[in-house]
Amino acid sequence: MTEKLQEIIDNSKSTVFFGGAGISTESGIPDFRSVDGLYNQKYDVPPEVILSHTYFMNHTKEFFDFYRDKMLALWAKPNAAHTKLAQLEKNGKLDCVITQNIDGLHQAAGSKNVLELHGSVHRNYCMKCGKSYSAEYILESKGIPRCTCSGIIKPDVVLYEEPLDEFVTKSAVRAIQRADTLIISGTSLTVYPAAGMIYYFGGRNLVLINRDSTPADSSADLVIHGKAGEVFSKINA
Ligand code: NAD
Repeated sequence: MTEKLQEIIDNSKSTVFFGGAGISTESGIPDFRSVDGLYNQKYDVPPEVILSHTYFMNHTKEFFDFYRDKMLALWAKPNAAHTKLAQLEKNGKLDCVITQNIDGLHQAAGSKNVLELHGSVHRNYCMKCGKSYSAEYILESKGIPRCTCSGIIKPDVVLYEEPLDEFVTKSAVRAIQRADTLIISGTSLTVYPAAGMIYYFGGRNLVLINRDSTPADSSADLVIHGKAGEVFSKINA
């Protein structure tokens, strides 16, 4: 299976990677839908409610309690999947990474062309004056993080009910439309509109590397059921 993947990557003119939370589980960050994912841990309110715009506006302190505890994994380090993708890009074998993740681990591994569909924990802005703050500032703050102007600081992450950034979305669609090979990995392909982006792919090789099966398995040219880090560690960049 990995031999076939290597062959596809080596012979492809334009390869794009599309990933999700599963890419970072080997770095210790839980995804949402696995057995040990956030949805199966015990919360009074489901994560997708806590991570919604309405909840953020109405229960701001509780939002930040959850966010600091579960979403701000600033201790996490890139794993073999992040690292190999960065090397592939450096060697001209990967056009870009399109990610649903907000953890910044692709950039930490050295990837340059990263389209973050759901934003990043590393960008935070005051809702009143627009001043920017680091993720460390949010982590170290208590209760609701406040700006020097007293405004609330909001992470630049796309919450449920919020639209995706238009420029990022258009760039991702263009990259997928141009690609010869699309490698999808670490995503259940259930969070829309991000998951719908893969329908713009009209190239030759649709590759799926995922631990569990996904709705796109049946339309893929190559399906590898396994851990992304383990699979990518066998690929030569
Ligand atoms: P998801 O939780 O719905 O699905 C994760 C998928 O990854 C599952 O299909 C699982 O089988 C697979 N998976 C888990 N570990 C894997 C591994 N090591 N190798 C290969 N596959 C693996 O994730 P999603 O589709 O990305 O949707 C969740 C949403 O939550 C996204 O919008 C994402 O932005 C956000 N989220 C982000 C992070 C992060 O930034 N690290 C973490 C949790 C959730």
